[in-house]
Order: sequence, then C-alpha cells, then structure tokens
Amino acid sequence: MTAYAAPLAELRFAIEEIAGLPELARLPAFADATPDLVETVLAEAGKLAAGVLDPLNQPGDREGCRLENGVVVLPGGFAEAYRTFAAGGWNAVPFDPAFGGQGLPWSLQTALHEMWAAANLSFSLCPMLTQGVIELLQAHGSPAQKAAYLPKLIEGRWAGTMNLTEPQAGSDLGALKTRARREGERYRITGQKIFITYGEHELAENIVHMVLARLEDAPPGVRGISLFLVPKLLPGEGGPARNDLRCVALERKLGIHASPTCVMAYGDDDGAVGELVGEANRGLEYMFTMMNNARLGVGIQGIAVADRAYQRAVAYARGRIQSRAAGAREPAPVPIIRHPDVRRMLMTMRALTEAARALAFQAAGALDRARHAADPAERARQQARVDLLIPVVKAWSTDIGVEVASLGIQVHGGMGFIEEPGAAQHLRDARITPIYEGTNGIQANDLVGRKLARDGGAAMRDYLVELKREAAAAPADLTPRLAAGIAALERAADHLVRTYPEAVETALAGATPFLRLLGTVAGGVLLARSAGIVAARRAAGAGDADFLAAKEATARFYADNILPLAGGLAEVVTAGGPSTLALDEDAF
Ligand SMILES: Cc1cc2nc3c(=O)[nH]c(=O)nc-3n(C[C@H](O)[C@H](O)[C@H](O)COP(=O)(O)OP(=O)(O)OC[C@H]3O[C@@H](n4cnc5c(N)ncnc54)[C@H](O)[C@@H]3O)c2cc1C
Repeated sequence: MTAYAAPLAELRFAIEEIAGLPELARLPAFADATPDLVETVLAEAGKLAAGVLDPLNQPGDREGCRLENGVVVLPGGFAEAYRTFAAGGWNAVPFDPAFGGQGLPWSLQTALHEMWAAANLSFSLCPMLTQGVIELLQAHGSPAQKAAYLPKLIEGRWAGTMNLTEPQAGSDLGALKTRARREGERYRITGQKIFITYGEHELAENIVHMVLARLEDAPPGVRGISLFLVPKLLPGEGGPARNDLRCVALERKLGIHASPTCVMAYGDDDGAVGELVGEANRGLEYMFTMMNNARLGVGIQGIAVADRAYQRAVAYARGRIQSRAAGAREPAPVPIIRHPDVRRMLMTMRALTEAARALAFQAAGALDRARHAADPAERARQQARVDLLIPVVKAWSTDIGVEVASLGIQVHGGMGFIEEPGAAQHLRDARITPIYEGTNGIQANDLVGRKLARDGGAAMRDYLVELKREAAAAPADLTPRLAAGIAALERAADHLVRTYPEAVETALAGATPFLRLLGTVAGGVLLARSAGIVAARRAAGAGDADFLAAKEATARFYADNILPLAGGLAEVVTAGGPSTLALDEDAF
C-alpha cells in the first residue's frame, strides 16, 4: 500500500512560476496571498489530503454508497472527514469575503483541488459541486439569494449540486424537459434528472440543487431554459420542511464508487418549490459562466489521478524485483525501475502529468487576472486566453489521467489488474473525467468551433505569438523541437480556420487531434520555460537540487519523446478528415 504524499514542491512551483503568484499578489484583491501564507496553506492541505482523505479512498471504493429508505449512506469515515474539511474552512478559499470566503486566488484553489482529488476523487466531488453553486450565486443570484445561501454554502454547512442531465438530454441540453410552473413569487419544478453527483446525502445539513428547467411559455431549445434554486429542505415555521424532491435510485458504475450518482425525481407530489435565479430563459448562459471553473476543476481531477497513479507506480517499481538488468553480467534480478521500458513508462507518466499541470495553472492564473486585473483591456485579454485554454485543460488533462492511470497498471504487471494494490482503482476512477462536465468530444468541438474558427483564429494567433516568444527564450537545446511543434500547431490551426466555414464536418473530424496537438505543444513550451527557470535556480544554488534536476530532466524527456508527436497530430488534423467520414453510415 502506498500512502499519498502531496507534491508540495511541484505545486508551489506551479503557483509561483506558472500561474505567477508574485504578480497576482500585487493585485489589490489578492494582497493576502503572500508566499508564506501560500506555503502554510499548501502544507496544511497536504496533511489533510494525506492523513484524512487518502486513507478513506480504497475502503470507500470497496464499500460504495447505499440508498436506504430514500437516504444515501456514504462509506464509513466520510461524514467525519467532511466535518473536518468544513471546519478547516477548506470550502471557503477562493470566495468573496463579504459572505465568509477567504478571497484567495483560484491558482491556490487549483493546487488544493489537486490534492483533494488525488487523495480521494469521490470525496472531492462534493466540495467541487458546492463551489460551482457558490460561483453561480455569486455571479447571478439576487441580493436576497446571496444573503440566504452563500454563507452556509461557503461554510460547508450546506452542500450544492448541478442538475442538468436528463435521459434524453446529455450533451444536447436543448432537449431537456423538466418543467417549472409559476406560483406567486415561487416556482414548482417537476421532472426527472439523472446522473446527479451527490444528489442526496447526509454530510451537510441541507442540499441546494441548481436545476435547469423550462417555464410553461418558454421557447423551445437552448433559449428556453431557466435556472432554479431548489433546496432539499425549505425553511418553515415549525423547522425546515422536506421539499418535494427525492433520490429514487443510485447508479452502479465503473469507478468513483464512493460518490453517489443519483436519479432525482422532482415534484412527484405538488411540485418541488424553487426560486428563479436571474432572468427567465437565461439558465444555460448562466451555467456557462461557471463552466470555466468547473472544467478547470475536472481537468485538475485528471492531473490529480495521474499524479496519484504515478506515485503508486514508482513505489511498486522500486520494490518489485524481476529479471537481470539489460546488458548486466550479474545474474541477480533487479528492481524493475532499472529496466528501460519501465523507465519509459514512468517518465511518460511523470512528464505528461507535469505538462498538464503546467497548462492548468497557466489557465488558473489567467482566470485570476481576468477577474481582478486593474486594466479592463488586460482583463479582456486574459478572459480570451482562459476561453481558449479551458477546453484543452479539461479534455487533454483528463485524457492524460486515463492514459497515465493505464500506464500505472502496466508498471504493476499482473498486480495492476488485481484490485488490492490500488492501481486498478485509479483507472476506474479516472475514466469518468473525460465524460462528465461536457465530454471531451464536445470540448474539442468547442475549441475548434467557438474558440478557433469563430474569431477567424485571432485568439489563437495571439497565443502562437506568445508560444514563439517563450520558445525563443527556452534553453537552447530545446528550441528546435519547440519550433517544430509550434510550426505544426500553426499549420493545423490555419488549416482549420480556412476549412471550417465551408467543410465543417471534415474540420470537426480533426477537432480531437487538434485539441491534443494544442495541449502537447503548449505543455512542451511550459515545461521548457520551467527548465529555464530551474537551470537559473540551480546555477544560483537556490532551492532543492534534486527537485530542480528532476524537473529539468523531465522537460528534456518531454521535448525528446512527446513533443515530436505534434508533427503527426498536425498531419492527422490537415489530412485525416475525409477518410474519417468516408465509410457509409450503413456500413458500420
Ligand atoms: C458518474 C457521473 C456523474 C455525473 N454527474 C453529473 C451531475 O452532477 N450533474 C449533471 O447534470 N450531469 C452529470 N453527469 C452527466 C454527464 O455530464 C453526461 O453523461 C455527459 O454530459 C454526456 O452526456 P450523455 O451521457 O447523455 O452522452 P451523449 O450526449 O449521449 O454522448 C454520447 C457520445 O456522443 C458524443 N456526442 C454527443 N453529441 C456530440 C456532438 N455534437 N459532436 C460530437 N460528439 C458528440 C459524446 O462526446 C459521447 O462520446 C454525470 C455522469 C456520470 C456518468
């Protein structure tokens, strides 16, 4: 059994050097985010993740959740862990101090989220969804809604959920049917939602459901969807009263067994009582304002599971003795970590995880600047960067989570396929992350359709300028590979901008390879930047020499072994579309 160790040096590096904490801390909103405070917060979070959440991960996976008489029972230890989590103020970190939040940067929250999700993905989903509800209410709630709900949600006394999906409405939310009927100042909600994470549980005193539904006179499609706040318990004179909503079933599923995935029935009796959030028919638009954070959060889950799987694989590879070393005279078998193919797997795991982490922290830093930079033009520029990067962070990182967890199994050999060592759980858990919060296919469509083609490639061209500038400043031995990767990305982007307007299907057939290409190149550039910083620190004799040397070696491995794939991906984007679509539908 390998205990989780929070990668504190890595996370500090990502916050300071990639998200740019020193610069963020100069913004008035983040004056409290001093290096000392950040270090203390990271260290405390690392202890909570390793000491409280990680020990519940495998037992929680084995025990799973149960529905008993309408009550969802979570695995042993979860209730105490949630109380500890909430009492520590961990729900409050990035939120408005006016409502009890701590007003710290999302870049810091991103590091915390990685630790929670690495230690226990199932547990981490509860606070993550609550944060989504807080974000929505901060942005779109009325003053009365903010006053009534935000303090309790931020404190963690109440939890939140997102209710979008219905059986006929998954990726296509325009098809949703849940109804809302006006009744004076309130609304009555009727319908069924499926796949609702933490839709019912007893961890918190109340659950605030954010529900997408249609008003009676709403136009069809996505323009007729409104957002409602529907609490599990309604305030009443004789104490809180149960609202007309219930969890009617729990899904049995591949992974995240300790996270309840609920079928929710609203309004089996008179209709669940809800409040409209914002204006009618703008619900989907409101949801999208918090999507960037939610998608960043899911991307982080991919990185978190990848890091956890990597740690477990390294420990196993050090301890498992098998075969003599290649080319060695001594017949004695050696730890498998000495075999070149195992090294290849471990370096791939490590490099992909670090690259995805770097991109996520770049996006988190941009998110903080988009909200709090002093200059409106700078805020707009940072928002454009967030919009471009978020689908890549979500999809690329979660694909990496699956790939790295799968490699982790391979490092374990047969024991990887057996549940006991824990590597198998990582793959089972990681597998949901490319699916929820917008499938990775939908992210790729978003990247190519909305973020690349819609502005004729303008935001992408800006980004390419920056990538080229960074590549030019990178350590000299890395620049040729970086230049080749950036040229491949530029070629593919130009092709899609040109072809999307007249051949949208062919262009979209290349959307997923394009997203991977963008992630691959952006990650390579960020690791090269890290290598430059690390080399300077080493030359100055500053910092932990082993950490710095490993970081530099990882960047070189990435440049030599992963970045060259960019050329092939560009070829797929520019030439692969027609044959992807050539086979007649009936021939499948
Ligand atoms: C464990 C779990 C937890 C979840 N938690 C929540 C939650 O808390 N709240 C909530 O509201 N929902 C939740 N979901 C639902 C999740 O967000 C949806 O499953 C997801 O959005 C995909 O919808 P779908 O399952 O209907 O797949 P579909 O939309 O049917 O997609 C099937 C396939 O078709 C592809 N596809 C569909 N449309 C297109 C297109 N236009 N272009 C290209 N490809 C396309 C998809 O990428 C996918 O590969 C959860 C799901 C699971 C399994």
